[in-house]
Parts: sequence; C-alpha cells; structure tokens
Amino acid sequence: MDEKVKELLEKAKLTAGMAADTAVKAAGMVSQKGTQLVEKTKRNFQVFDLNNEVELLMRDIGRMVYLTHTGVETDEAALEEKLAQIDEKYAAIAAIKEELEAQKTTTVCPVCGKDCDKNDLYFRVCGEKLQ
Ligand SMILES: [Zn+2]
Repeated sequence: MDEKVKELLEKAKLTAGMAADTAVKAAGMVSQKGTQLVEKTKRNFQVFDLNNEVELLMRDIGRMVYLTHTGVETDEAALEEKLAQIDEKYAAIAAIKEELEAQKTTTVCPVCGKDCDKNDLYFRVCGEKLQ
C-alpha cells in the first residue's frame, strides 16, 4: 500500500478510541429529545437522513484517501473531522433505533414472521410460544 495512505489510515485508527465517548454523548442527546415523544415516522426519516449524510462523508473520505495516494497533500484535520462526524451519526442512528424498539408494543414471530403483542404468551397467528 501507498506509504502516505498507510500513514493516513494509522492516524484514523488512533481516533477510534474517541468513537465510544461520542456514542455515549450522542445517545444522551437523543434520549433527552426523545422525552418530547416524537412521532415514529419522524424518527425513521431522521435515520434515513443520517444514513445519507454518512454516505456522503464516506464518499468524501474515499476521495481524500485516493487523492493522498495520487500525491495530493491531505488536510488531516478535515479528515479526522469527517471520521468523527460519522461516529456521531452512527451513534445517533443506534440511539434512535433503540428508542423506536423500546416504544414498540409488538414483536415479530421467529416462526411465521407476523407481528403480535409483546405481552401475549403465544403468537396469535401460528401458536408459537413467546419467551
Ligand atoms: Zn408465528
């Protein structure tokens, strides 16, 4: 691999430890907002938007790595910023999904795949026992 690209990837690895802290912070942020009882649809759109933003950042990072490979000077601060932004967005997505899951009153049967109430002892459709 290209030495400069290798060096860049090593630096990116060093910022990995910061991702966990960011995840905790983002989760706190989202759950605070969650107390305002936001609609499920709105949450799903937020996840959709966040995923799109992550894709754009991934594309930027890919371009930066490629340009490094071609000999162009890399703005390392900008690269680290983009990596941190992805960490934040993934953390926010995870927190939203967790929140949506907690709000669900139904569960999916592993046998027939139909929804049923979380409090039911048996699935109404196929009779499979719920844990
Ligand atoms: Zn079933």
